[in-house]
Amino acid sequence: MNDIEIAQAVSSVLSRFTKMTPESAVINSAAETAPPPAPERPPAPASASLNAIVARALAQKRVTTIPSPACEPGNGAFASMDEAIAAAVLAQVQYRHCLMQERATFVQGIRDVFLQEPVLQTISRMAVEETGMGNYADKLTKNRVAAQKTPGPEDLITGALSGDSGLTLTEFSAYGVIGSITPTTNPTETIINNSIGMLAAGNSVVFSPHPRSRKVSLYCVELINHKLASLGAPANLVVTVTQPSIDNTSTLISDPRINMLVATGGPAIVKTVMSSGKKAIGAGAGNPPVVVDETADIEKAARDIICGCSFDNNLPCVAEKEVIVVNQVADYLIHCMKKSGGYLLCDKALLRQMESLVLNEKGTGPDTAFVGKDARYILQQLGIIAPEDTKVILVETTKNHPFVVHELMMPVLPVVRVDNVDEAIELAVQVEHGNRHTAIMHSTNVEKLTKMARQIQTTIFVKNGPSYAGLGVGGEGHATFTIAGPTGEGLTSARSFARARRCVMVEALNVR
Ligand code: NAD
Repeated sequence: MNDIEIAQAVSSVLSRFTKMTPESAVINSAAETAPPPAPERPPAPASASLNAIVARALAQKRVTTIPSPACEPGNGAFASMDEAIAAAVLAQVQYRHCLMQERATFVQGIRDVFLQEPVLQTISRMAVEETGMGNYADKLTKNRVAAQKTPGPEDLITGALSGDSGLTLTEFSAYGVIGSITPTTNPTETIINNSIGMLAAGNSVVFSPHPRSRKVSLYCVELINHKLASLGAPANLVVTVTQPSIDNTSTLISDPRINMLVATGGPAIVKTVMSSGKKAIGAGAGNPPVVVDETADIEKAARDIICGCSFDNNLPCVAEKEVIVVNQVADYLIHCMKKSGGYLLCDKALLRQMESLVLNEKGTGPDTAFVGKDARYILQQLGIIAPEDTKVILVETTKNHPFVVHELMMPVLPVVRVDNVDEAIELAVQVEHGNRHTAIMHSTNVEKLTKMARQIQTTIFVKNGPSYAGLGVGGEGHATFTIAGPTGEGLTSARSFARARRCVMVEALNVR
């Protein structure tokens, strides 16, 4: 049984429900717009065999036929994960019949929605208000770059080999339905970025957002759905659930209709998707060190470090999390960082207080209440009224301090002095913990830059710039908010969400 027949069979059953709900209408109309069967195919199934066909269709696709009346039609949010997945399955069936040009139109539509200034402002404000993390100005930048610089279908470059034996093409083809689990730190950016990349590759996507970013995530999905509907796209290419939760995420992970999982978050969720038995992309935690040696342009390094570290209040997984500086230039670097918005906390008692304030009870990571908070707010909790232009709290620590070892995701930047650049590189490798995520180095010594890149093996290595240059903000290259170190896709784009398929024409179509 082919996809069209499945859609028709399910549609027929749904039409037997006398009282149609909005979602069933969406599914039904979606099936109606499927292309008619080719003339040589067998006639439509007789009503006697319909039940058997639908039973088979449901077994294959596990399509839910009784949608919840609680859902608003067309906004992409479903009362249960089961319904969301069912809708995305049907959408994917239809999407396979769309042209590449149509895909490009839908992707452009998503860009257009989020590049409207009022929309950018609304989602950026909502994200800060709802999560209590990050800052509005930087979220504007991140959302804009996600909409502008996430590659579309042009990323799916076909490979061709021709010779005496014929022509072989390698084409990127959809996985099917992708389950995407998104973080609280970049809630909107990840939805924009993943929607563009996943749809560009021909997939539909079911989002499971972090519960703490529920409202703004649902709003983004709704905006996408309305835009896609206006462009004539199949309904429900991008869906989610009305109540995101850990349980819903677990349902998503284990559902057999989900062909690929993409998790952007901390180590636990990355490990979970990687052990799911499905094709999984894991974009996990980082703890990016920044190394500064005596050959660097120290004033520029200081400015870059403060800008990178304070970007969205240090929420990005790529942001500078600890400075390792060669003794010879350490004082001058600190002096310059202070001039660029660093507040140096020297008092030992205050440092102890800050440790108990911003770390969790066991001292094994940040207290979530302080993740993504701004530097002045954190200082205020210590009774310090810092100047208005304060962006980062600087503290000199030893190399084993919890601020160095753990990913804090707040603008508290430990500075560790070392004797020489080789020691700095060695320590950077150690505190990056093999995450293979991001590292930054300020140096003009090509040999040492190369040494650091070789030893640390991170997915992103930024030289002489702020960390966010690695995301395409002020650096060359496309943007992504799903940086897959653990599973190796690197800075994901449409082709990361596609399967490579070989198509071979034997002894023909080669024209040389
Ligand atoms: P998080 O791990 O708490 O949550 C991420 C997502 O996973 C959320 O949707 C959450 O609901 C879900 N989740 C977490 N644990 C789960 C479990 N046991 N079962 C089911 N679902 C679970 O992370 P966060 O606080 O939202 O984001 C910050 C983390 O994500 C940081 O470690 C940061 O470095 C990382 N991150 C990485 C990238 C990247 O591209 N590599 C991008 C952004 C954030």
